[in-house]
Amino acid sequence: MSTLILGGGVTGLAAAWHLQQRGEPVEVWEAGASVGGWMKTLPWEGGHFETGPQGVLWQKGTAVDRIFCAIELPFKSPGTGARWVGKGGRLIPVPASPPALMFSSLMPLAAKLRMMAEPFIPVRDAEPEEGLSAFIARRLGRGVATELLPAMVAGVLAAPPEMLSVDAIPKLRQWEATGSLVNGIRKSGVSHMVVPEGGMGQLPLRLAAKLSAVRTGLRAERLTSLPDGRWRVSGGGETRETDRVVLALPAFEAAALLGPVASQSAEALAAIPYTSVDLWHSRHTPLPALKDSFGFLIHPPEGRGYLGSLVPSWMDPQSAPDGLMQLRSFIGGAFGKPEDLEAWEGIYARLKHWIPALSEARAVRHERADRAIPRPELGHRARVRSALDGLPAGVDWLSNARFGPGVRDILEGLETWIR
Ligand SMILES: Cc1cc2nc3c(=O)[nH]c(=O)nc-3n(C[C@H](O)[C@H](O)[C@H](O)COP(=O)(O)OP(=O)(O)OC[C@H]3O[C@@H](n4cnc5c(N)ncnc54)[C@H](O)[C@@H]3O)c2cc1C
Repeated sequence: MSTLILGGGVTGLAAAWHLQQRGEPVEVWEAGASVGGWMKTLPWEGGHFETGPQGVLWQKGTAVDRIFCAIELPFKSPGTGARWVGKGGRLIPVPASPPALMFSSLMPLAAKLRMMAEPFIPVRDAEPEEGLSAFIARRLGRGVATELLPAMVAGVLAAPPEMLSVDAIPKLRQWEATGSLVNGIRKSGVSHMVVPEGGMGQLPLRLAAKLSAVRTGLRAERLTSLPDGRWRVSGGGETRETDRVVLALPAFEAAALLGPVASQSAEALAAIPYTSVDLWHSRHTPLPALKDSFGFLIHPPEGRGYLGSLVPSWMDPQSAPDGLMQLRSFIGGAFGKPEDLEAWEGIYARLKHWIPALSEARAVRHERADRAIPRPELGHRARVRSALDGLPAGVDWLSNARFGPGVRDILEGLETWIR
């Protein structure tokens, strides 16, 4: 059975790789000039920066490990790294283990005590779909939901948890289904953040190199069903006839193609909102306090549009030239962007508020990640179901809006899909 995959981001390429492993003929069309979608490592004087993911959560014997081994992708882990939450005007360390949270000033004592009761909270049916804040409040208490969750979610989805469905982070329901979150986390084991040698962009490049037919600069513009049940795809002056089409595209791009052939799916996918975020990369004199640090997230009400900063030069030392520390600051998302965060001066002022010893930047780079992150709001489950149910035979849709926000979610989701 021949397959044409539309979209050469990590989802489309990994799906193509699975099909090719099964001996099926597969071709990928990517609209951009190069593969990778959001997962690209771009050169920057003496180093590089990431347009999307900074790292991926890896664990031995999991989907991420299996694909990294199969495509012989060398990678390394920087270790655990110190992390903080900015709250009450200062950076508070996030303890490395849940028991150590009991001694942290991140939450009031009552919230910590309530959190300890999580293993005894009964499991609730998956239906009806719950909001993310409501889910965390039910399992871990209102204190965790209001004091800790907002910064954690801002760091992954750049949106407030009250806006989101529990399905925004599918692992939560999977863990609860084992009896409790504590049990689920214990059973699934500890994952480590890893980065491929040369940056995250090496993952799509290595996948593409293993595939026999990847076309770039080719945007699919039209899908037509043929009388024999096959599909015709056209765009960029090219046409293909194929047994199966896989749309490995953000929901809004998939909706545009599906409109004329699957109106129910198109409508459901068009209703999935996406969040934009501004990324500011900056290089500074290294600070001892941030030397072995993952970075910090700001409790959103206090951040006022400044969501936090990572330290890529710790995660991936090749990213910055010797003697410089590289930061990546996240601005806006679904929280909106006040005027003072339009230019570097305002962002530097916010950084200085949280890290007073930070030097002036030696170099700065701004990238806008437009409609980059799906925002699974309450009702997401019904939208995804309706989209999948409405797909005609021979058409499929794969995306982080279906499997979950992270690269790990996508690679795990694809292993289930291929079975
Ligand atoms: C700023 C940012 C930071 C992130 N950080 C992390 C992180 O640290 N860890 C983590 O695990 N995840 C992270 N993520 C999430 C992760 O990067 C994404 O989930 C993943 O890259 C999505 O891949 P994708 O292939 O599904 O989509 P995309 O990357 O959007 O790829 C879709 C591709 O389809 C192409 N396309 C669109 N329309 C057409 C068409 N009509 N025809 C052909 N091609 C088309 C596009 O050009 C694009 O290349 C981050 C994301 C962003 C944006």
